[in-house]
Parts: sequence; structure tokens; C-alpha cells
Amino acid sequence: MSGRRLATLMVIALVLGSLPLASSPQAEAGWPARNQIQKDGFTVTIVVPVDIRGLGGRTFRNARTGERRSGERVAEMWEQGAEEIWNLGFSNHTFRGCYTFVLDIQMQALGEGDSGNPNNHQVQFKNTLFVAPNVRARVTTPGGRPAAHADVDTAFEQSLAGLWGRNDNLITAHEVGHLLGLADDYTTARGSDGVVSFTPLSGRAGTLMARGTIVDEELVKRVGELVADHEELPPCILGVWESRQMKEEGIQTTTATVSAVVRVVPTDQGQLEGTVQGEFQLEGVAEEGGCQFNYSAGMVVDLELSVEGEDDGPYSFDAKAPNELDEIQRHYLCEQAIDLTLDWDVSFNFDGIEFTDGQYIDDQGEDGRLVLTYLLAEQ
Ligand SMILES: [Zn+2]
Repeated sequence: MSGRRLATLMVIALVLGSLPLASSPQAEAGWPARNQIQKDGFTVTIVVPVDIRGLGGRTFRNARTGERRSGERVAEMWEQGAEEIWNLGFSNHTFRGCYTFVLDIQMQALGEGDSGNPNNHQVQFKNTLFVAPNVRARVTTPGGRPAAHADVDTAFEQSLAGLWGRNDNLITAHEVGHLLGLADDYTTARGSDGVVSFTPLSGRAGTLMARGTIVDEELVKRVGELVADHEELPPCILGVWESRQMKEEGIQTTTATVSAVVRVVPTDQGQLEGTVQGEFQLEGVAEEGGCQFNYSAGMVVDLELSVEGEDDGPYSFDAKAPNELDEIQRHYLCEQAIDLTLDWDVSFNFDGIEFTDGQYIDDQGEDGRLVLTYLLAEQ
């Protein structure tokens, strides 16, 4: 193929390639589905892809230390630094008591002319950004800057645009907060001297979206609401089971108590499986021939459940196998040694559980109680 023909073909390919971008209405409205959500049981990974134009192929020198860094390395450090700040908060606070978020930022350093991926958030890097007073890094949402504390889930539907400078990790983490759809938790006012002052919203001082450092429970909850608005989260059933039973047998009067946490987890195959984990305690009195003594025993309860049901129910919970306490205790407190047989099965079986307002409460009086909360994705 001649050089001339090749060049012609390339021009055609470039024109064809750019046509859909220029004419697509999506180019105006933004691009579909930007932040991605990956679910693995109760672990929900939020992938935030960011193209940073103007970083790639450059070298930056730290004026203080003289250290040199490539733009690619800067992007990598921002990515790691912001992930660390967010993932610390996510590991400290589950969402709705069930879900643990993991943030996976994918930053890509691009040269000024690189096309990048229009599906990613588009950030322009400007080295001199912080030189001008009051000029800060920002992320803009189509439709304008959201009001303080008014989160929007646009970031899960369209790519957002940003302008970043020499961010430190906290600034980057704050800006990534905007890429997650969070609004600022502060208000600004310009004083007569032209200096802008920042006031955290009530109760938000010290937290990341109020220019602080902490990803607190409220931020995790707000990110969770944005995620849940956009993606159905797996069913989440959590609760407690407390039960007490008395048994009289031979010379023994025994009271058994179970105190356990019920948790239902979706499997990879989309089925529901659960666990019941807690403690089983026996307390008893034995009496023979005017001789009376106490005894006790206990064990850890760790039951596996099979679970059936969906939405508000009915659900059935069934222990796959009981946990067994089976021991013989020899007691020497009376004239003759007495062997006590302690033989209990702990099992769990509930049928026809229906949730009202996401709650199931089965109150069996003083013998036991089952309280389950079922969280719907739409809540
Ligand atoms: Zn902000």
C-alpha cells in the first residue's frame, strides 16, 4: 500500500471516528453510566474512572524538596491517597448495617491532546490553579453546582468535569467525593477584604466534604443512598434471636438460653444463605436424696441457614444442621458421685416470616424473641 493511500485512509477513519462524538446528543448531556458498581455479597465496590488531561508526559518538580515526579506518578499517588482516605471511612462504617463499600479510583494521566475515554470523568489539570487566590479545585455537575448538602447521583449516569491543580491527597479525596455525587458540606462568604471564608454546615466540621479529613458515618450513608438509588443492593436481613427454654428431666432442672445474631447473605449464585452466631448457655439444678447442686455448660452457636423468600416475604429459615452440646458431667458434691447427662441440640427454624415496614418481630413472651430487619434496596 502506498504512503499516500494509507494517509487517506487514516483521515477517513479519524473523521468517521469523531463523527458520532460530535453529533451524538449524549455528548451534550454527558455519557451514560460513569461510576460503576460491582457487587460481591455485601461488599460493594464503586469504581470511579477519571481521565486527567494535562498531567501525562510531564514532569513536576517539588519546589521544597527538589524531587521530580512524572505526571503518571502524580495520578497514581492521588489515586492511592484518595482511596486510602475513603476506604478507611468505608471500613469503619457499614451502610445500613450490611454493606461495606470499597472505592476503586482509576485515574489516568493524559497529555493535553490525548482523547482519553469519554466514559470517564474528565478532569483538566492546571498547574497554576492554586496560585490565584480563592481559586480552588472543583468538579462541576451538569446543571450547575449543587447546593451545599444537596447530593446528586448524576455521577452514576454521566461523566462529570473537573478542574484540578496541585492537589494534596485530602483535596483529591474531597474532589472524588464530588465525583461520587456528594455536595459540599460548607458555605462560603466573601468578606469586604475579598477573602472567602468557609463555614462548615452544622455538625459537619472536620469531615471530608466540609474541607476536613474524616469520612464519617453520615458520608458513608450519603454515598450509600446514591449507590442504592442507582443500583439494587442485595437483600439484607439482620437481627437477633433470643430464646429461653426450661427442661425438667430426672433429677435435673435445666434452663437453656440462646443469644445470637441472624444474618442473611446472598451467594454468588443469587441464592440466600444465612448464619446464626452467638452463644448457648445451660444453667441447672440437680437434686437427689436431699443433696442439691448447680451445674452449667455452654457453647458457641454457629449455625448455617438455608433461606427462601424474596421481597417482603414470606421467608423460611432453616438450620442446615443443629449444633450439639453432648457431655457427661461427674459431680462429687453429694455422698455418691453423680453423672449428669447434658444433651441439647440448638437449631433454628422459622417459617412464613413476612416483613412489615422492613421489620419482623416475633415476640414469644419470656421464652424468646426474634427481631429481624429486612432492608429493601429502595429504602
Ligand atoms: Zn467541594
